[in-house]
Amino acid sequence: MIDTHAHLYAEEFDTDRNAMLQRAQSVGVTKIVLPNVDSASLQRMLKLESEQSGFCYAAIGVHPTSIGPGYEDELAMVEQELKRRNSSDPAGPAIAPYIAIGEIGTDLYWDKSFVHQQQKAFACQLQWSLDYHLPVIIHVRDSFDATFEVLQDFKGRGLRGVFHSFTGTAAQAYTINEFGTFYLGVNGIVTFKNSGLRDELIQLSPEKLLLETDAPYLSPVPYRGKRNESSYLALIAGKLAEVYSLTTDEIVRITTQNANSLFNFK
Ligand SMILES: [Zn+2]
Repeated sequence: MIDTHAHLYAEEFDTDRNAMLQRAQSVGVTKIVLPNVDSASLQRMLKLESEQSGFCYAAIGVHPTSIGPGYEDELAMVEQELKRRNSSDPAGPAIAPYIAIGEIGTDLYWDKSFVHQQQKAFACQLQWSLDYHLPVIIHVRDSFDATFEVLQDFKGRGLRGVFHSFTGTAAQAYTINEFGTFYLGVNGIVTFKNSGLRDELIQLSPEKLLLETDAPYLSPVPYRGKRNESSYLALIAGKLAEVYSLTTDEIVRITTQNANSLFNFK
């Protein structure tokens, strides 16, 4: 299994990070994607990535909730990091490139006052994903319209990525795929008792889905409300198996193949 979205560099794991990573490996998690938040999270993320090389893979971007006054400095950090690791200079030292741009997008749940700046930063980072041939990890919260408005300008230009923590409708999933080739990231929300997500997913193919935890957030049942971790990915795979009347092994095989193809894992 591949956990395609986990903030395992967060302080929440400072006391038991290695044990937590061991638990993930013992249930069959083979790779973990670490999405960046902003310049404050960057060094923590890079440290974990280098300690867990071959297991944890970093993406670079600035999260919409970190877009405020001075957001240009955050974008400059992203651009600098892309230049540092993703500009192929055959004469320079070999550095592992970032595997994606993320997480980026819009979020109008916490604060609506920076919506235009969020959209500008989103568009700028989408353009870099095309320039650097990288997939994007998109965050949307209460903001499908604001997100679609930006994506409209990128129609037909070859965007690839994932709408992480997808909680939209099947109709929105179809709209998303008019803007490019997109997977939907499914996390613990699919296990929540009152979630309408299962009824939407059943109308979509598992060939479109990725597994993710979004740890330390959004723990699946029976850990809802507690700290999330990558080993709980198995519970999400199990619930999807139930939704599609497939075996957990089949869900794992399909979603792993999807993640390998999106992030270019060998
Ligand atoms: Zn996230």
